Amino acid sequence: MNPDYPFTRFAPSPTGYLHRGHILSALYVYAAAEKFGYRVRLRIEDHDQSRARKAYIDAIREDLEWLGFTWEAESIQSSNTERYERLLEILRKKNLIYACDCSRKFTFETNPTNEDGEIIYQGHCKELGLPFAKNHAIRFKTPDISVNWEDLRLGKLTENPKDICGDFALKDRIGQWTYQFAVVADDFEEGVGLVVRGEDLKHSTSRQIILAQALGRKEPPLFLHHPLIVDPTGKKLSKREHAESIRGERDAGKSAEALLGEVCAQAGFLPKPELLSVNDSIQLVKNRLF
Ligand SMILES: [Zn+2]
Repeated sequence: MNPDYPFTRFAPSPTGYLHRGHILSALYVYAAAEKFGYRVRLRIEDHDQSRARKAYIDAIREDLEWLGFTWEAESIQSSNTERYERLLEILRKKNLIYACDCSRKFTFETNPTNEDGEIIYQGHCKELGLPFAKNHAIRFKTPDISVNWEDLRLGKLTENPKDICGDFALKDRIGQWTYQFAVVADDFEEGVGLVVRGEDLKHSTSRQIILAQALGRKEPPLFLHHPLIVDPTGKKLSKREHAESIRGERDAGKSAEALLGEVCAQAGFLPKPELLSVNDSIQLVKNRLF
C-alpha cells in the first residue's frame, strides 16, 4: 500500500434510498479494506445536482449507521468545485480538453455505442475550437492506446478507452461535473489507493486510469470489481426501479442482522439466511473474496 493513498471508499449517489445492492457493495469495500490494509472513506457522490436530494444524503449516513458501518473520513462532491476547476485547468494547459456543443440527440445520432449502451464519442467538435462557454460540454482528448491493469478479483484486463468511450465528457452541457471526472479527481486528492465497485462500472476503468495520469497521478489506484445482486429476472437492482430500500425494510420491522444475513445469502456467501452482525458479514465476504 502506498502511504500517500491509504483509503478505499464507499461512494453512493444521493439520488434515491440505499437498497440491498448498496449493502453488498459496502461489504465488499469493507472486506477489501481489511484484506489489503486500507481505511474507509464515505464519499457522497452528488455530482449530478439535478437528481441529488438532501433527504437522500441524510438517509445514506443513517442507513449505514443503522447497519453498523463506521468510516474514518467523509467527503461530498458538491464541496469539491474548486478542486475540479483547478484540475480541469491542468488539462486545459496541456491541451487535453475541448468544448463541445453537440446536443444529446445529435450525439446519439452520430456516434456508435458500446455494449453498455454508452456513447463512443468520435470527436465531432475536437477541431472546431469552440469556446469553453457555459452551455458547452467539455470533453477529454482520449488517446488511442491499450491500457492494461490487474483487477484484484478479475485478473489481468486490457482495454482501449478510444474504443470504449472515445472523447468522454468531463463536464456536461448544463455545467455539471461528470461521474468520470469527479471520481478520478477525488480519488487522486482524497488519498484513494483502492477502488472497489460493481462490475457494471468495469468499462470506466481504462479511461479513469489515463485521466488520472493526465492529471499528474503517478500510479493509478488498484481496482476490484465485484458482482452485483440481481433481481429475480436477472436485472441489477436499481433505485430507478424502486427496489425496496433499506429504510423500507427497517420500517417494516426487519433487524439489521436479519437484513445483512439475507444479503449475504442472496450474494451466495451463505447457503441460507442467518442473523449476522456487520463485522461477521464483512469477515464472511473477506474470507470468500479469494
Ligand atoms: Zn460536440
